[in-house]
Amino acid sequence: MKKRIALLGATGSIGKSSVDIILRDKENFEVVLLAARSSREKLDELSKLFPSAVCVLTEEKDGTQKLLSAISNVKADITINGISGAAGFQPSLAAIESGSHLALANKETIVMAGKLAVRLAKEKNVNIIPVDSEHSAIFHLLRYFAAHNTGAVSEIILTASGGPFRNLSLQEMEKVTAQDALSHPTWKMGQKITIDSASMANKGLEVIEANVFFNTPVDKIKTVIHPQSIVHSMIRLCNGAVYAQLSKPDMRNPIHDAIYYPETTPLTLEPLDFDSLTLEFSKPDTEKFPMLKLAYEAAKLGCLYPCAYNATNETAVTAFLERKIGFLDIPRITESVLQADWNCSKIDKDTVLNADKNARQRAFSYL
Ligand code: NDP
Ligand code: MG
Repeated sequence: MKKRIALLGATGSIGKSSVDIILRDKENFEVVLLAARSSREKLDELSKLFPSAVCVLTEEKDGTQKLLSAISNVKADITINGISGAAGFQPSLAAIESGSHLALANKETIVMAGKLAVRLAKEKNVNIIPVDSEHSAIFHLLRYFAAHNTGAVSEIILTASGGPFRNLSLQEMEKVTAQDALSHPTWKMGQKITIDSASMANKGLEVIEANVFFNTPVDKIKTVIHPQSIVHSMIRLCNGAVYAQLSKPDMRNPIHDAIYYPETTPLTLEPLDFDSLTLEFSKPDTEKFPMLKLAYEAAKLGCLYPCAYNATNETAVTAFLERKIGFLDIPRITESVLQADWNCSKIDKDTVLNADKNARQRAFSYL
């Protein structure tokens, strides 16, 4: 029987890579839902490729509600969530509630309320399989080594490209424009995540994501700059051995691995060529990239701090893209919002959505 796929964020960068992977195996996959925000033309094109799919644009009247209803009606076998930002949170929960496995690129879901999503997935007996390349690497390393929850893993090491400003001074970074920040050296991605890569907020979000996904304390999650983006992440075992996952930077790899999980099936992409390969590693500079340090702090504090970190960053990134604030105002605003009290007695959908709204309002007041 064909696996029925819901593709959320179908018109974006993850969406495009997902379509490529699905079209390679039409015998085994069928797309039953396509969703985006406002890219009507692109969605129409996709619906020609997958004529039986329900199509939803959330920017249309009651679109978000329609999307949530469509997710629960189609009851896909697998939902690929490639929506950008906090807008992906409710669709992720709706997919899990519907009994669908979740191939999750939308890291914001886990940052906002990872424990809630993981708990719900357990209740519904569905898997959340990470698509973020680092977490995909760790997820599969852990399962191939059968190493999770055995005490064998002493450290998770996330690699980071370091973004386009890796070698700039703080003074130089003060003046960079949105256009400078949008030219990522190794990955071609949506605007929000590209800015996050330049500020290292992306790695910050990923530290929080790893903390929840792999139930690993933050002080056991390390980050290392690796400009070539070939090593996608590593695990260090208690005997000192370090295992890494390597491939060319191409999101089709983790998407493929997620939708075929738990099987390991062939994928023919251009292989990594070791004849001319240089791999460099260095320590990240958290003074120059305070978003990374702030994420570690938010992860340690837990509760709604990660959610506030995410909402503030998203608000500040939008303002930066609209040229309303400078690049270094992103960490300044985030630090200010995180000064508030984001403790909580419980985490459910409403407390998370309220904290998200509250943090955005606070962030606005600093713009
Ligand atoms: P893009 O900006 O390229 O695409 C975003 C997609 O989400 C578009 O289809 C967009 O629709 C849709 N979308 C945005 N807002 C809404 C909304 N409110 N309701 C429904 N759909 C919406 O982003 P990326 O593909 O780069 O990233 C998507 C997610 O994947 C992010 O969480 C990112 O962090 C994560 N990720 C991405 C990687 C990459 O290589 N791109 C790598 C690792 C993680 P429309 O076109 O209509 O605006
Ligand atoms: Mg990543």
